[in-house]
Amino acid sequence: MPARPLTLEERLSARGISRRQFLKFCGAMTATLALPSIFTPRIARAMNTSERLPVIWLEFQDCAGNTESFLRAASPGVADIVLEQISLEYHETIMAPAGHRAERSLDEALERHPGQYIAIVEGSIPTAAGGIYCTINGHTALSIAERVCSNALATIAVGACAWDGGWPGADPNPTGAVGVRDAVPGLKNLINMPGCPANVVNITAVIVHYLTFKQLPATDEQGRPFFAYGQLIHNNCERRGHFDAGRFVESWGDEGHRLGWCLYKMGCKGPETNSNCPSVGWNGTSYWPIGAGHGCVGCMSERFWDKMAPVYGRLPNVEGFGVEATADTVGAVAVGAVVGGATVHAVASALRARSQPITAHDGAETLVEAASRAMDVVEQIAGPVKPGEAPATEPATTEPERAIALGVLDEREDRRNGDTQ
Ligand code: SF4
Repeated sequence: MPARPLTLEERLSARGISRRQFLKFCGAMTATLALPSIFTPRIARAMNTSERLPVIWLEFQDCAGNTESFLRAASPGVADIVLEQISLEYHETIMAPAGHRAERSLDEALERHPGQYIAIVEGSIPTAAGGIYCTINGHTALSIAERVCSNALATIAVGACAWDGGWPGADPNPTGAVGVRDAVPGLKNLINMPGCPANVVNITAVIVHYLTFKQLPATDEQGRPFFAYGQLIHNNCERRGHFDAGRFVESWGDEGHRLGWCLYKMGCKGPETNSNCPSVGWNGTSYWPIGAGHGCVGCMSERFWDKMAPVYGRLPNVEGFGVEATADTVGAVAVGAVVGGATVHAVASALRARSQPITAHDGAETLVEAASRAMDVVEQIAGPVKPGEAPATEPATTEPERAIALGVLDEREDRRNGDTQ
């Protein structure tokens, strides 16, 4: 009798990754995908039983930052677990074969898995002068992207460059660099994951979502998954209380900076950038730019090199507060009086609530509508929640719940208590 193939858990165990660590990973993925925790066993089951998913990873005009991010994931890294569950057929930077043998690997992968592989694209695609600014083995990046992406089960554009041209596409864009969506228009199943780099946790979550539900996660009109890009950083930022109270860092290293106040005046782009950075953290830790004391540079926003520049320039208008007109006044009151801080918070919140309806990512629907749409998506992919499985009203995971599930809040608390372990 042929031997039963090993499950993922068994393969991981052979590599020293325990069942507990595996389940923790599944819990973290559930949280990242903003699903209720009842989905954790389902994700674990699917990860254990699904066939390996063939993946072809293309790199064009880029710095390999997304690959670095993927490989630098924590230990036991998401990369360890996901690499066990995908079959990485081609990846120039980390594959063993080189030259013609590497090219042969790509040809063979395309022949072996027509329409069944995931194409991951990193880097922008130059289109000027027939695309000659980036060629591999005599083929332009443009022709390779057309060949690989048009026959893929799905394409994931990782990082700002693969989304909209990123750094190479910044003005004056001498190579005519564009992202996948413009280089190969009309692609079905294109997922865009902007960022410089994209967070490996989110890339992994897309793959886990596919393995579990056999479909890609719900996206906005720009093809960005809601779970990762559905909320403004500003709305979930750990410094938001300081923003509302008018406590701003005025210069690097001042008292406000040391106390963790809001970085809006130092050029933070969090009020105009959609991302789950505040709850997911980077490289398997709770660290993220704003947490480390630097404002968000808006790297998940469209054409951020052009539109979000200069890095330290203040955003002219922050929706819902009119902070440009009031920040200095509010700040003076807050710094001058302890009681004033609470009052200013209340007044600022009231002003915000009155002046601006709360809107979702596209500014066209309310959060209630967005939440109800999210639940529709959950029901669509998972079927109606059965009685006894969970209360009918159980919401998808919130940002703070996600942060707790991912261990981010615990870790921040440890740091506050001086425990650096
Ligand atoms: S302006 Fe930046 S630092 Fe301040 S609350 Fe918003 S996202 Fe956080």
